[in-house]
Amino acid sequence: MILAGKPVQERVLADVTVGVERLKQARGVAPTLAVVLIGEDPASQIYVRGKKRAADSVGIGTRDHLYPQGIAQADLERLLRTLSADPGVHGILLQLPLPKGLNETAALAAIDPEKDVDGLHPMNLGRLLAGERGTVPCTPAGCLAILDHYGVKLEGAEAVVVGRSRLVGKPLAQLLLARNATVTMCHTRTRNLAEHTRRADVLCVAAGRPRMITGDMVKEGAWVIDVGVNRLDTGRLAGDVDFESVEKRAGGVTPVPGGVGLLTIAMLLKNTLAAAERQAGR
Ligand code: NAP
Repeated sequence: MILAGKPVQERVLADVTVGVERLKQARGVAPTLAVVLIGEDPASQIYVRGKKRAADSVGIGTRDHLYPQGIAQADLERLLRTLSADPGVHGILLQLPLPKGLNETAALAAIDPEKDVDGLHPMNLGRLLAGERGTVPCTPAGCLAILDHYGVKLEGAEAVVVGRSRLVGKPLAQLLLARNATVTMCHTRTRNLAEHTRRADVLCVAAGRPRMITGDMVKEGAWVIDVGVNRLDTGRLAGDVDFESVEKRAGGVTPVPGGVGLLTIAMLLKNTLAAAERQAGR
């Protein structure tokens, strides 16, 4: 089965659209996302354009804060603190990666955790670890939304996560753990990766290595979530999973493009609405 992201994305966006309208009608609050982009990285510019377009489509307003590469760390943090204190801004999106020379961890920490719609503030990551309510990073939340949409049972399942980044692997492992899966995390120092992946009922791959997971590394009937987005020399996109060989063995696998990627922005908008609702309720 192909675990397409589209129907899941459509459902999330439809819910967000309704929620935004309800908040505008009931409380007179128009959810607004501040978009902070530093430098001229073309990929980041494309991502930011996509996020703004999607926000617009669900009725979430955006405010641009575009700065050249040379901005000082202190000025960036001051901007993030100013936006955090601005009652007209409900969510702050700091587009990553930041240009070399800027400290991402310190910048993320300057954002009010209540407006941290990417869920990357240390407070939100800590809440995730503690099993408390907080904002969950968008891509891992998207993976869970896909698994839930297709009815994949997580309780008691052997889940294997390949990749341990702050952005994807680590929070995803925590989410799976919170759903009572038995979670194994793999990385570049893991010995015999295939031995682990072959045990997985649910295999999530976020390594950034095109087609590294092949059919022989997957258990018959496993659910495979491919987070990887890799640009090949040919210009085409490829996931971390070799779709052709894995599809033959897996119970279901997400395509690239058309899988997890569609959910990441949807979850950003869901987090923005939730942030606006919390702030309106205070
Ligand atoms: P990252 O920060 O580079 O982390 C990659 C992780 O994979 C690291 O933990 C690394 O291990 C591990 N890894 C790399 N090669 C491996 C190998 N051969 N065997 C086992 N583990 C390996 O990347 P990321 O930000 O998590 O992103 C991962 C992928 O997801 C990328 O392709 C990225 O473009 C994509 N992505 C997609 C979305 C989306 O919306 N669809 C969002 C975010 C990211 P070590 O820690 O040992 O180095």
